[in-house]
Amino acid sequence: MVALIRELSRLPGIGPKSAQRLAFHLFEQPREDIERLSRALLEAKRDLHTCPVCFNITDAERCDVCSDPSRDQGVICVVEEPGDVIAIERSGEYRGLYHVLHGVLSPMNGVGPDKLHIRPLLPRVQEGQEVILATGTTVEGDATALYLQRLLEPLGAVVSRIAYGLPVGGALEYADEVTLGRALAGRQRVSKPPQS
Ligand SMILES: [Zn+2]
Repeated sequence: MVALIRELSRLPGIGPKSAQRLAFHLFEQPREDIERLSRALLEAKRDLHTCPVCFNITDAERCDVCSDPSRDQGVICVVEEPGDVIAIERSGEYRGLYHVLHGVLSPMNGVGPDKLHIRPLLPRVQEGQEVILATGTTVEGDATALYLQRLLEPLGAVVSRIAYGLPVGGALEYADEVTLGRALAGRQRVSKPPQS
């Protein structure tokens, strides 16, 4: 039991008390349930990898979104984490593509552009392509969005930033579907329109 509590408390967001509660809960479950959970954990570790195009998590060669031809190829929504894709998909407001950075720029913590999946985004962006910067509304999320904007504008991308309705300092995946849907719909264009 001590070993189980120790392992559970290593998970993000699980303190010693929650770990203890989970351990006792698991202890009371039937053996089949525990076996199913163990199998799911092992299978996830064996089968899941990042999509080579958008870096979402998938068990297929390419993720569900990238392999769906009915998705709007003209829009790429850039998010911090795979959990953000799930949250936006749940809102049902978005039919475009994604790009998952797997983090935000954080010089204080030694996270520079090379630690994120920024470079593979650039060849995906065509002239006139819309890119929605949907990083969180934290200081780091904003700084990351600004960095990307400066990188993407010279490529001729139409860059927009979500903002409306999202609490400042918020992580996307904790926003409810309605708020997230509105934040996407109310995105503001941040790149200058091309000179005519
Ligand atoms: Zn993908």
